[in-house]
Amino acid sequence: MMNKFVGVDLGGTLLKAAIVDIDSGEISGLEQIDTLAREGHTAVIARMARLIQTVIGDSGIPKSQIGGIGIGVPGIVDLEAGIVRFLPNLPGTWPNVPLGPEIAQSVGLPVRLLNDVRSMTLGEWMFGAGQGVDTMACFAIGTGVGGGLVINGKLHLGIGGTGGELGHQIIDYNGPRCGCGNRGCLEVFASGPAIVALGIKAVIQGLTTIIGELVDYDLNRITPKVIYKAAVQGDEIAKEIFDLAGYYIGVAVANTLAAIGPRKVVIGGGVAQAGDLLLEPIRRTVKERVHIMPVDQVEIIPAQLGPNAGLIGAALWAYYIYKKNGGAYQV
Ligand SMILES: [Zn+2]
Repeated sequence: MMNKFVGVDLGGTLLKAAIVDIDSGEISGLEQIDTLAREGHTAVIARMARLIQTVIGDSGIPKSQIGGIGIGVPGIVDLEAGIVRFLPNLPGTWPNVPLGPEIAQSVGLPVRLLNDVRSMTLGEWMFGAGQGVDTMACFAIGTGVGGGLVINGKLHLGIGGTGGELGHQIIDYNGPRCGCGNRGCLEVFASGPAIVALGIKAVIQGLTTIIGELVDYDLNRITPKVIYKAAVQGDEIAKEIFDLAGYYIGVAVANTLAAIGPRKVVIGGGVAQAGDLLLEPIRRTVKERVHIMPVDQVEIIPAQLGPNAGLIGAALWAYYIYKKNGGAYQV
């Protein structure tokens, strides 16, 4: 059986690819370029194909020794056909783009697509924070809020791979409009932009906070990282903002515990770099709100693999399908 696959991560900003060793989870030859999504999907797909060819060429591994390519995609994909249905966070939205078949044709290797946070979930479960349990949930807090579930030793897919969208569970049923068309989803309250909006509001309201000072009162420069910096300097408003986001995530985690009874809940994504500022209110809320199951047996922990978890998981996904088909799947 082959154990080298190419993992690709199609991000809103960066396009990354590397060789992934399926036995160890180790990556090599990581290359990254700007996605430049505004140029449209034809240009992005051409750049992705060249990037993959570069990674394979530089690895010194003959193409015949590489099992296939897994691509983590930030949106809804047709798992069977390898077609991108909808990418909410990329310009142009990519409706019904045959990403899988086009890359397979250019590179000459089989390709499988998977949602990027389901990919991350798979990576963290096999090689990261989720190791050793048969049921876990993963939240990725970034520009959006993504999710993934492992249930009874298997990545849970649901209808067409749509299962595990933990960021789109309803937290406040009359809440503000979400990008998905619903109202009051977790993403509206806890994503990076939601946290930034709270920071901007605090500055505009003239609350006592150093957030404005940190960006010379250029409100466009406020990021979750700036608010984090303020919080670690003791800024009460900044701490409150993370506390509130953590509270909402905690409610979502509580819902998830009731639904699947996981042993581990892994919290990753850029915003999760705030560490305990975010994890502490999540854990506190879960403790306060969950009484139906033994919460003390549930670990709520940070992700371990960093920004390459999705790429590792996407390669694993390509490997699983290869294995399922007896090592013989076709381009
Ligand atoms: Zn939503």
